[in-house]
Amino acid sequence: MSSFLGYLCSVCRREYEPDQVTYTCPQDGGNLDVVLDIGAIRRQSSSAAISRSDDHSIWRYLPLLPVGPPGHIGTPLWDVGWTPLFRPNRLGAKLGLTDLWIKDDGRNPTASFKDRASAVVVARAQEIGAHVIVTASTGNAGAALAGMAAAAAQPAVILAPRTAPPAKVAQLLIYGAKVFLVDGSYDQAFDLTVEASQALGWYCRNTGYNPFTAEGKKTAAFEMCEQLTDVVGARRAVPLREWLAPDVVFVSVGDGNIISGLHKGFRDLLDLGWIEHLPRLIGVQAEGSAAVYRAFADGAADIQPVRAETLADSISVDLPRDGLRALRAVAETKGFFLTVSDASILDAMRQLGAVEGIFAEPAAAAAYAGLVEAVRQARVDPGQRLVVLLTGSGLKDVRAAMQAAGEAVIIEPTLEALRAGLARGEAT
Ligand SMILES: *Cc1c(COP(=O)(O)O)cnc(C)c1O
Ligand SMILES: [Zn+2]
Repeated sequence: MSSFLGYLCSVCRREYEPDQVTYTCPQDGGNLDVVLDIGAIRRQSSSAAISRSDDHSIWRYLPLLPVGPPGHIGTPLWDVGWTPLFRPNRLGAKLGLTDLWIKDDGRNPTASFKDRASAVVVARAQEIGAHVIVTASTGNAGAALAGMAAAAAQPAVILAPRTAPPAKVAQLLIYGAKVFLVDGSYDQAFDLTVEASQALGWYCRNTGYNPFTAEGKKTAAFEMCEQLTDVVGARRAVPLREWLAPDVVFVSVGDGNIISGLHKGFRDLLDLGWIEHLPRLIGVQAEGSAAVYRAFADGAADIQPVRAETLADSISVDLPRDGLRALRAVAETKGFFLTVSDASILDAMRQLGAVEGIFAEPAAAAAYAGLVEAVRQARVDPGQRLVVLLTGSGLKDVRAAMQAAGEAVIIEPTLEALRAGLARGEAT
């Protein structure tokens, strides 16, 4: 039933059978794209058939995934994806944009976009009979793996940098994963995870290493198109025959696996003939963690590591593990990369929260800060259909939120004190 044909190296273009390799290209270490049988998908399914599905999760897209359905129906594994896509009308008006959309992936079971990848990796692990699953993570990928693995009753080991935000570490522990805080960077945790998976026979979920993460992440592209069709198509006299792609998508970039996954998703739909164009992908990096942006700006073919320093921990990466495919995603869609400062990320958190009621973590708010910056630089067409992907909930990193929000005012428990506080304009 599965349309999974094998892999294609994103560097040397060599092809591999499904059981010939597990992670990266044996020749050059390049990341592998999953190859699907587009003809078979077209014969077995259609955009209309999927639109009729009453499964409101990533699993509505099973015909386009290289895995079968995971067991454990009714668990959080089956509740990943189909996150809300809505119009932030007040922010849109402030920016002078008429067709702005936000997709809030903080609304996933473990509160980040990473659930999409981890759910598909767990399904793959079940298929190949892998027992222990391990990942390096700045926090969210680990929490997503720990949560999805718990739902599937599968053991998980997580290696996170010691500096990971405490709320994220608590989440890992609550999901019952074996957690090790590595006294070093995310990059060091990454290398250790690869070494450990080889030495101990564990299945490794690492971002920009395991080819199935991007396959999970591509489902967000499917949802954007299908959900836009639901809303925009419903207003049309003539129903839309196929799905409606956005014109431009803003996404934050750390390792570059989310933007690569979105690119794959839009390409799958274009290959199937279910959308008419690829959206331009705009990659947003933090100024202090901008290795992919630099390579893009310099027109370089490879990516030089940086010493990453930003409060947006989820996109704080020295050496992006999927940087080459991120460059390709932006080049092939005629998008661009830009950077945002930590101050503008904090400002974006306040705007999203106070103006639209969305609590985003810094790495998620960075995508919105990127939109603000692109508008400032007059690099977006105000009438185009723009989607900002928010990748994680603000509850993930309460320390950063306090930095954005400041302190609450303390008063005596009297009406007088409340009135005095209000008069001083302290409670806004
Ligand atoms: C992982 C993550 C990102 C960045 O994704 P990459 O694949 O590393 O580029 C952005 N935001 C949040 C909240 C994340 O957890
Ligand atoms: Zn190769």
